[in-house]
Amino acid sequence: MQILILGSGQDAGVPQIGCDCLNCTRARTEPEFKRLGPSIAILDAEKKYCFLIDASPDIKPQIELVKKIIPKADNQDKIPISGIFLTHAHFGHVAGLWMLGKECIDAQNITVFCSSLMCDFLKNNHPFSHLIDRNLSLSNMKKNQKYPIEDFQISSFHVPHRDEYADTVGYIIELKKKILYLPDLDNWTEVLIQLVESVDIALIDGSFYTKDELPGRDDVPHPPMKETMELLDPTKTEIYFTHYNHTNPILKKEGKDRKETLDKGFKLAFDGLLLDI
Ligand SMILES: [Zn+2]
Ligand SMILES: [Zn+2]
Ligand SMILES: [Zn+2]
Repeated sequence: MQILILGSGQDAGVPQIGCDCLNCTRARTEPEFKRLGPSIAILDAEKKYCFLIDASPDIKPQIELVKKIIPKADNQDKIPISGIFLTHAHFGHVAGLWMLGKECIDAQNITVFCSSLMCDFLKNNHPFSHLIDRNLSLSNMKKNQKYPIEDFQISSFHVPHRDEYADTVGYIIELKKKILYLPDLDNWTEVLIQLVESVDIALIDGSFYTKDELPGRDDVPHPPMKETMELLDPTKTEIYFTHYNHTNPILKKEGKDRKETLDKGFKLAFDGLLLDI
């Protein structure tokens, strides 16, 4: 089984629409600087399954990437998606669901696994409600409980994050190794730090390098990488940052902040990265 990083950008990806900053300008001309919206795939080409965590606005190119590895999942004729696990209701994590509706591929009952608050949000809000029972069927996952899916186990855990519409979870996927996926959080708690220490590989929120990146804002709602690196130990867990905002200086390959991160033993996820689990 493998984990494929489908998108290592923040919700809006890099380049952001209409943005002329250096990172975005470069991403338009040099593909290696491009970052799609946040999503990963849990897949096994031989066993023919592919589950997504989150459905980003860039789901179209992301499914093309998956199709190079798995042309068809066992349960779907048209697209290689066996099921989708959702972290939360923010735009970059759910907008791709719209591509599965009648106006698009008209997927047949793909199971969407999420918290009960998230199930309620999807059932009660258009356009998601429009997809339920034809394109998507909802499966409520209780937090901190292991669910066997194919040959792996998956559990969700509570994450403090701006919960305007529903709640937020992260996931732990377990086969030979344990991998944690935590793309969005507001702040680190002792429980979350212990969870990161309990797994082999962690993919975590790398939205911003420092709080100074958004001029005029002192309420940056993500722990900056510089502070996260003070709290976590990369010798205990293989730690990858992901979910980069277009302002993040580590996107510049030659930057000192990128070097500082790597020198400290942390890793940087990129679109197309494959991890064996
Ligand atoms: Zn996000
Ligand atoms: Zn930009
Ligand atoms: Zn979010």
